[in-house]
Amino acid sequence: MGLELGGAGRAESSAARKARDLIVLGSGPAGLSAALYAARADRAPLILTGQELGGQAGLTHVIENYPGFPEGVGGAELGQLFQKHAERFGAQVELDSATAVDLTLWPFHVSTYSSEYDARTLIIATGASPRKLKVPGEQELTGRGVSYCATCDGWFFKGKDVVVVGGGDSALEEGLFLTRYASHVTIVHRREELRAGRLLRQRAERNEKISFMLNSVVQAVRGETTVTSVTLRNVITGAVEERQTQGVFIFIGHDPNTDFLRGQVELDAKGYVVADTRMRTSVPGVFVAGEAADSVFRQVATSVGMGVAAAMSAESWLAEREAELAETRA
Ligand code: NAP
Repeated sequence: MGLELGGAGRAESSAARKARDLIVLGSGPAGLSAALYAARADRAPLILTGQELGGQAGLTHVIENYPGFPEGVGGAELGQLFQKHAERFGAQVELDSATAVDLTLWPFHVSTYSSEYDARTLIIATGASPRKLKVPGEQELTGRGVSYCATCDGWFFKGKDVVVVGGGDSALEEGLFLTRYASHVTIVHRREELRAGRLLRQRAERNEKISFMLNSVVQAVRGETTVTSVTLRNVITGAVEERQTQGVFIFIGHDPNTDFLRGQVELDAKGYVVADTRMRTSVPGVFVAGEAADSVFRQVATSVGMGVAAAMSAESWLAEREAELAETRA
């Protein structure tokens, strides 16, 4: 991918665009940490929040493994602290999303729902979104019994029976959270072994409101206006059963929010942005942080570290570029 400094055809059109040293796409822990470091480097970064202010972490009821909070901290509260910290040093947070980018010329072009920007450096911190089961009824009944967020929707299932799909940390953590409201939580997992860590497994196994249906998959979600049942299939015996339930919470992993970057920056087969250890992407001047590039760790703490690294790399890239341009002009 070529980098054309100050392309002649762009000078005219860029007059209508707002110029920035650094734009951060995404306002989760990675984006806001990058913004903090860029702000402290006096780059007055702009953060385009994306759909979820605070990212996925902002939807988490309690985060128990972010260092410095021995009693745990609410996801939304932590997001607000990150934002306040970045703003204190001059970061600007805009409730807007990048809809397209042009990384073939420099400065890079970022289009959003309401504006056009020129960015001398870009940090992609767009995170990931919950994966869908892709079974009949799932899409039609989303928001009417099908949910991907226990913290957001758990309250609506007071005294009701719900099914949680998945066998990882998220499924168990969110399943445990749902026991505050639901009368019963059935965790449906496609294998015999749960993927979740020991601590969560023990907590879930000891909880009287939780039961497990292992070696089972949801084949369909049923209901006219709201969810009334799920069709389950045992993957070993092939037996199919209809289970009455009012809610289906799906926690089967995530896919990176990088579709709008296709053809602009190198992505791997699963859509994650390819980066080196300095968080540099295939395009010089474009960096990445957090779950847009991380299919492995996906922790608030690792995203924060990646955000910091991306901002530090962006700062050295900008400083080098400024020195080069000053030399050319001299
Ligand atoms: P995950 O670890 O990838 O687990 C996804 C689960 O969904 C797996 O059990 C997987 O089954 C199942 N699954 C995937 N596709 C499926 C499909 N099409 N149909 C049915 N089941 C399907 O994802 P996660 O639980 O969201 O966790 C992501 C990362 O965040 C992990 O690294 C996790 O440790 C971390 N996390 C940590 C905490 C914590 O520390 N408190 C909390 C939440 C998340 P298989 O097991 O058969 O693959």
